[in-house]
Amino acid sequence: MAYTYDDQNIFAKILRGEIPNDTVMETAHTLAFNDITPQAPVHVLVIPKGPYVTYDHFCAEASDVELVDFARTVAAICADRGVTADTSPGFRAISNAGDHAVQEVPHFHMHLLGGRPLGRMLARA
Ligand code: 5GP
Repeated sequence: MAYTYDDQNIFAKILRGEIPNDTVMETAHTLAFNDITPQAPVHVLVIPKGPYVTYDHFCAEASDVELVDFARTVAAICADRGVTADTSPGFRAISNAGDHAVQEVPHFHMHLLGGRPLGRMLARA
């Protein structure tokens, strides 16, 4: 893939400890922290520590260890925050990639949203 990673993005600065964050969970390869502008009672951002721009970039180029670490961290956060869909009304996982999705921060991140009804995924045109 031809993605170019900008190491001056805000999440890279968070990973380097240059900007504070409200950490929810941290593992060897993954960091999760609360969104600074939460859009739901639960709004956690989950990011890999590696330099991946988008979800497809991460899925294509991350190691198996990074991929599994990320996925298990997502599951652990859902359980910790009480939003797993088997025992609660559930949650939404969103990852915006590129201009059409209005990705603001060019470091792959998964939004985990829950704690209130979230409506349809997209407004119908
Ligand atoms: P995107 O539009 O790229 O999918 O989402 C970027 C998210 O990052 C937004 O929800 C925004 O509120 C969040 N965000 C931007 N800057 C910061 C920051 O410095 N700290 C935290 N915790 N979240 C941030």
